[in-house]
Amino acid sequence: MDNGWDFVVCYKSYAKRMKGDVGCMEPSKKPKKKNYKKLLWILIPASVLAVAASIVIPMLVNRPQPEEVPYAQFCTLVEEKQVEKVIYTIGAPKMQFQKPGSDTLYKTDNPKAEGFKEKMLLKGVEFEEITPSAFWSNVLSVVLTYLPFALLILLVFRMVPGRGFHVEAAERPETTFDDVAGLDEIKEDMKVIAETLKDPSMCEKLGAHITKGVLLEGDPGNGKTLFARALAGETGVNFYSANASEFIEMYAGLGASRVRKLFKEAKANAPSVVFIDELDAIGSKRDGSTDGAGREYTQCLNALLSAIDGFEASDGVLVIGATNRSQDLDPALVRPGRFDKQFVLPPPDCEAREKILNLHAKGKKFAPDVDFAELAKDTVGFSGAGLEALLNEAAMQALVHKAQEITRKHIEDASIQMELKGHIKKNIGKRNKQEHRMICYHEAGHTVATALLTDHLLRRVTVLPTTSGAGGVTMSTPQPDRNLETLQEIRAEVMVLYAGRASEYRLAGEREHAVSTGASSDIRQATELLQRLAVFSHGNGLLDYSGFGTAGQRKVMAQCETLSKELWDQTVSFLREHWEKVAAIAERLLQKDTLEEAEIRAIIENAAQPELADGED
Ligand code: ADP
Ligand code: ZN
Repeated sequence: MDNGWDFVVCYKSYAKRMKGDVGCMEPSKKPKKKNYKKLLWILIPASVLAVAASIVIPMLVNRPQPEEVPYAQFCTLVEEKQVEKVIYTIGAPKMQFQKPGSDTLYKTDNPKAEGFKEKMLLKGVEFEEITPSAFWSNVLSVVLTYLPFALLILLVFRMVPGRGFHVEAAERPETTFDDVAGLDEIKEDMKVIAETLKDPSMCEKLGAHITKGVLLEGDPGNGKTLFARALAGETGVNFYSANASEFIEMYAGLGASRVRKLFKEAKANAPSVVFIDELDAIGSKRDGSTDGAGREYTQCLNALLSAIDGFEASDGVLVIGATNRSQDLDPALVRPGRFDKQFVLPPPDCEAREKILNLHAKGKKFAPDVDFAELAKDTVGFSGAGLEALLNEAAMQALVHKAQEITRKHIEDASIQMELKGHIKKNIGKRNKQEHRMICYHEAGHTVATALLTDHLLRRVTVLPTTSGAGGVTMSTPQPDRNLETLQEIRAEVMVLYAGRASEYRLAGEREHAVSTGASSDIRQATELLQRLAVFSHGNGLLDYSGFGTAGQRKVMAQCETLSKELWDQTVSFLREHWEKVAAIAERLLQKDTLEEAEIRAIIENAAQPELADGED
């Protein structure tokens, strides 16, 4: 039961939203290694071809060369009637002949004498005359024999990534800033940049400096690509887009040459926007490694730097880079004159979420019970892309249920499906009684802790297993749009996560070895939160140890261990204190599988006071 049954689902938790602050134990990102699988795909057909060619070509080339015979001997042979046929090419230095009853070819000098043909015919020798046109047709047949091989070899060469590549043709996106919801302040700035791209003289008049590069930073799905396309669409300029990780996957300096080509093309077709996604793949801090990957990566970065330096701001090229880890970017890239304007695209706030939902609702039919303002509140932490996906998934749900319109229930199901990466199972089959009881207590632990320790909206708890392997789920949503949380709140979240396991622990009479492995994902999430706590706690002197290498990590780890122990103990005593509530929820779950918020709150409120000595087992 290793994949466990361990979810505490907050539609998206703060842990996800604020992960930018952590970083203390994130492994430093190295450029991606080259994709050697791809290379295999090329090497295998190439070697098969080479073997085939090595067999076939010699057969063609080493056709036995005719034996040369002196012309005088040839004349004697003719006299002796030992020549059956002469094969003669006009103007060629040699001619060929065959003896009677044999296919073997001999060659001798071409006498190039007049009347030679007639003389031969009189002697009863067959005379085959090859005209130059026939000669050329021979040449053609040889060429045709080899051509397929040549083409195949060429093809294989083109298959090598980056070989023979061409820069994709420019696009003219139809996206405009109206397609981007929210982010109004950034839009204003981008509009000005778009204007100066079209008309650089505007800036020059004012003596202002023209922006050459814009860096968009934000988590995936926050609209970086959308923004770049909108800028190009709004201005009506050419749009070139590339993904930096592709450059790194190329071989032997090809990535660098691709970078140069891309910029050359963009400059030739100015005004244009060059969009480079995942910039951190080439732009992260040079780690000085000199292995193949390291060299390739440095070459790409240098090519990019000189490409950016190589055009004037007035050339009408704007580079837009996208990254979700700007802290990793090489300082050379973000120097003035390169990516000198930087914008962070945050996850959309409540208002922006409503706008995004409305934007993506176009063309879909919703039931009157769907309220986007409400839905915006319930989707804390969703990215723009996440919201778009939610509505699409809801439409799918409606389709599956053959409904005419998308209802609130479809959206709810879609969000559960997305969060769980699966569905809550309909056919649960036979359940192991003891295990099922443990699951009910585990989820009841999460539920009571969520209800009493946080201000999250408790949505539902279920012990129906999911297709993704979870045995039960407690769903809650953080209060909409809080941007900061207190250390106390993070501690409470850790306790909520620990409460599942702590409840099993208590159910088993507080025997450590009786708990299941069903809390693996709870523990993983709690560990992330503890790392953040460690950075912010007074215990380490308010120092962010993430920049202190291994020694720093050790320090943070020690801090995490202390915090973890402290919070586990607190969770266990919390459950001791509220055990009757946990038991009430668990027993209800045993009968009913799923409880909604109102029912959960009612059970908690009405739960009997602890009986004497309960908990002192
Ligand atoms: P990123 O490049 O940051 O990973 P994208 O720009 O590719 O994100 O966003 C993916 C999709 O999400 C977009 O095509 C768009 O449909 C939707 N989206 C993201 N942010 C917004 C937004 N602010 N307004 C409207 N749609 C958005
Ligand atoms: Zn759990």
